[in-house]
Amino acid sequence: MCIFCQIAKGEIPSNKVLEDEEFLAFHDINPIAPIHILIIPKEHVENFQSVSPELMAKMTPFIQKVASQLCLDQTGYRLITNNGRDGGQEVPHLHFHLLGGAKLKWTNLTHNDPHKNL
Ligand code: 5GP
Ligand code: ZN
Repeated sequence: MCIFCQIAKGEIPSNKVLEDEEFLAFHDINPIAPIHILIIPKEHVENFQSVSPELMAKMTPFIQKVASQLCLDQTGYRLITNNGRDGGQEVPHLHFHLLGGAKLKWTNLTHNDPHKNL
């Protein structure tokens, strides 16, 4: 069973923010922003590329609720999902990173000149 399935089942502890029957939001163990939350479906889905439209339709209002609960709807936030190898996905269970609490930078994401990668 993957690590986020174990977190969803409560077999590995997490610092929870919001939970319902189908989704869980908890603090990232290694935050890269003042607020760094991970939002997952409890059901194992590998990544965004394989999520069903039905599950995503339910996940969207859950993510919005987490943002509102943390008052990030007022200040703004960034929502990221890393998908597969080039996306830098390390945990193979769909998760959205909800980042906020400071004005976030937007910089070159590759080590190379992005114009040369086209
Ligand atoms: P990815 O690179 O797959 O998009 O992001 C995985 C994220 O999961 C990373 O930001 C990492 O810090 C976080 N993470 C990995 N293991 C655990 C854990 O056991 N607990 C929590 N709360 N976060 C974790
Ligand atoms: Zn899983």
